[in-house]
Amino acid sequence: MTRIPDLLAAGRTLSFEFFPPKTAAGAAELDAALQELAVLRPSFISVTYGALGSTRANTRDLVIGFNQRHPFPAMPHLTCVGQSRAELHELLGAYQRSGIENVLALAGDPPADGSPSGGDFTFATELIELVREVGDFSVGVAAFPELHPRSPDRTTDRRHLAEKLCAADFGITQFFFEVEHYVRLVDELDALGCTTPLIAGVMPFVSVPGVRRMAAMNGTHLPDELQVRLDEVDGDPDAVRALGVEVATELCGQLLDHGVPGLHLYALNRAGSIKAIHAQLDLSAG
Ligand SMILES: Cc1cc2nc3c(=O)[nH]c(=O)nc-3n(C[C@H](O)[C@H](O)[C@H](O)COP(=O)(O)OP(=O)(O)OC[C@H]3O[C@@H](n4cnc5c(N)ncnc54)[C@H](O)[C@@H]3O)c2cc1C
Repeated sequence: MTRIPDLLAAGRTLSFEFFPPKTAAGAAELDAALQELAVLRPSFISVTYGALGSTRANTRDLVIGFNQRHPFPAMPHLTCVGQSRAELHELLGAYQRSGIENVLALAGDPPADGSPSGGDFTFATELIELVREVGDFSVGVAAFPELHPRSPDRTTDRRHLAEKLCAADFGITQFFFEVEHYVRLVDELDALGCTTPLIAGVMPFVSVPGVRRMAAMNGTHLPDELQVRLDEVDGDPDAVRALGVEVATELCGQLLDHGVPGLHLYALNRAGSIKAIHAQLDLSAG
């Protein structure tokens, strides 16, 4: 079984997210991490796609290679802002010919300097249409429990998200640190008649400046107590990693108690934190 909606229907999923490495050393690190994490038998893994298509070939080659070498499916992330319909059509065709069955369809971010992004797309919903046109893929989308940073208000955010999720097969959330954000999101979508399964994204952070930067970028709230603990461990890599594991383990436990349909762990191309979380909770898929 390799389509994510079928995996979700069969039981709770466990998945890991990786990014395309930039150097040979990074590639070796990713290979080693993947080998260690394959032993945990994830339901699927995913590989990110650089903004504006910057990792197009790397993401494609990694995903196709992983998919051929492992019994679990590898899903490519794909963004559409700043890219032409023809180039995305070609990439999706390559995925289809290689037996890839799942795609995470994203808008992506416009250029950070405010210059026009060009390309043929603005929103993820337009990419969902293209993905479905090219092949019989299962389609996932992104969801932001604490609202997408470009959304003008909560009602508008939830309306667009519900429309997008209804056109997709499943969602994966941005990372968050308080389970209430996930619970409230699911309730709000329910009220809008949207019951598409929402996999919770959990980030076991490994760097204090890194988690603060990503949280600020994504609108993720860092609770006061966590801020204090981050200050305490800043500068001690082992203590930061241990805190990241502790916080993620507690959150995963709360999400499991809540009956979440899947857990998606941001692996950051390393195995250590994920293995530590897995050892403390019964995270076996299904
Ligand atoms: C799980 C996950 C994985 C990710 N992976 C990647 C990755 O690999 N590469 C990468 O570059 N980025 C990635 N991102 C980040 C994502 O690309 C950015 O957050 C991007 O800014 C928005 O993408 P989206 O698909 O959520 O956009 P959309 O769903 O299109 O939403 C973007 C904004 O537009 C609004 N909107 C949507 N439809 C309409 C409409 N019809 N009219 C007006 N407003 C509308 C929404 O409310 C929202 O505010 C990921 C995010 C998550 C949560």
